[in-house]
Amino acid sequence: MTVTGAIWRDQLTAEQRAALGRDVGTIANPRPDVLVVGGGILGVAIAAAVHDAGLGSVQLIEAGRLGAGATGGATGLLIPEPHQWSDPETFVDLERASLQRWRYLDQATPGGLGLVELDWIGLAPDAGGLAAHQPANVEWLDAAKIAALVPGLAWHLGGALIRHQARVNPLRALVGLADGLPSVGTGVAATAVTVRSDRIESVTTSAGEISPGAVVFATGQPPVIDGLELNIPSDRVKGHLLVTEPAKEYLPCTVAPVATPLEDGRLLAGGTFDYGDESPVVREEVVDTIMGGLRAALPGIRGVGVSHQWCCFRPRHPDRRPVIDRVPGLGNAWLTSGHFRTGILNAPATGLAITRWISADKPPPEARTWSALRFARD
Ligand SMILES: Cc1cc2nc3c(=O)[nH]c(=O)nc-3n(C[C@H](O)[C@H](O)[C@H](O)COP(=O)(O)OP(=O)(O)OC[C@H]3O[C@@H](n4cnc5c(N)ncnc54)[C@H](O)[C@@H]3O)c2cc1C
Repeated sequence: MTVTGAIWRDQLTAEQRAALGRDVGTIANPRPDVLVVGGGILGVAIAAAVHDAGLGSVQLIEAGRLGAGATGGATGLLIPEPHQWSDPETFVDLERASLQRWRYLDQATPGGLGLVELDWIGLAPDAGGLAAHQPANVEWLDAAKIAALVPGLAWHLGGALIRHQARVNPLRALVGLADGLPSVGTGVAATAVTVRSDRIESVTTSAGEISPGAVVFATGQPPVIDGLELNIPSDRVKGHLLVTEPAKEYLPCTVAPVATPLEDGRLLAGGTFDYGDESPVVREEVVDTIMGGLRAALPGIRGVGVSHQWCCFRPRHPDRRPVIDRVPGLGNAWLTSGHFRTGILNAPATGLAITRWISADKPPPEARTWSALRFARD
């Protein structure tokens, strides 16, 4: 599904927009050392990491335009610390490492990746509602302090403040990462693989044959490609988001579950979990509910309208954690999939993990937890 209506594309320059559809139908390098299949944030981050590590030539192919899938519709929050209440420690460690890598890449990339530093507040009736004990990096603010920080808020609630989180425009970041890659073909779909012994010998695409040294599949959900036998359960969960018209500065930082402030005082709200809704269409009633919640929380925005509304699908495995693994049974193919709610955040760390694995021919410690074989054991 191609995401339409998101604000992210509108925030790009004409040049950046053009880069999303670069080299249509073209395979510049049909014999790459590494072929990456999928031009979402994971595929681009992996290709960039492989390229930066000097592992040889890289060809990336994307069936549609870069960022056309979940990546182009994400909120773009890079917030590991709030996940300490909901995710296992190994996962939060991956997220923390990835935010650190995002910061490094933002600095190291000419022109930057557009990373915006951001504090995060999670509203709650009392401190105990968020966790049995407050972790050291969380500051509890009582209702009076929250009211001083967020004067327009209608609710009398305290909140947990976590500093030094971040956000990106996912498409802006993706274009920046892809800029350093010499061989990117959009409008090129992988349709089949030829396997000899335990290796992928060639990949059939809509633009011709590719004979890669190694292949990495980063297709959101596990790829459906002839000749590739994968038995990894996955599905997808739809989510709606909206952005308001420019307004005065209502929020000093992300205030969950209310909204995240964007440029010009716009507010980004939503991120619904529309389980069972497989339609790619935006549902007005969901948008109305999100906007109703926003107006209830911030009565001052009553006259402010919606400028953007969209939906997209999060790729998910049953345990809501990603797969970062070598393709079972194959020596020269890797896979990452099911990044669900945190694929933007975790892309740089995943790119590094796969690059280290290809380079050393053995799994790096940070990837061991995310094996595809965990589903075979169930
Ligand atoms: C409402 C919502 C809010 C979100 N908010 C956040 C957030 O704040 N922070 C965060 O970290 N994450 C967030 N996410 C999650 C994030 O969007 C995803 O985890 C992430 O984008 C997944 O990236 P990906 O590259 O794996 O998949 P995708 O972006 O879907 O990219 C996969 C690409 O592979 C291509 N492809 C598939 N098959 C083939 C083939 N055979 N040949 C060639 N190309 C192929 C597709 O066209 C697609 O472009 C959110 C998601 C949603 C829906």
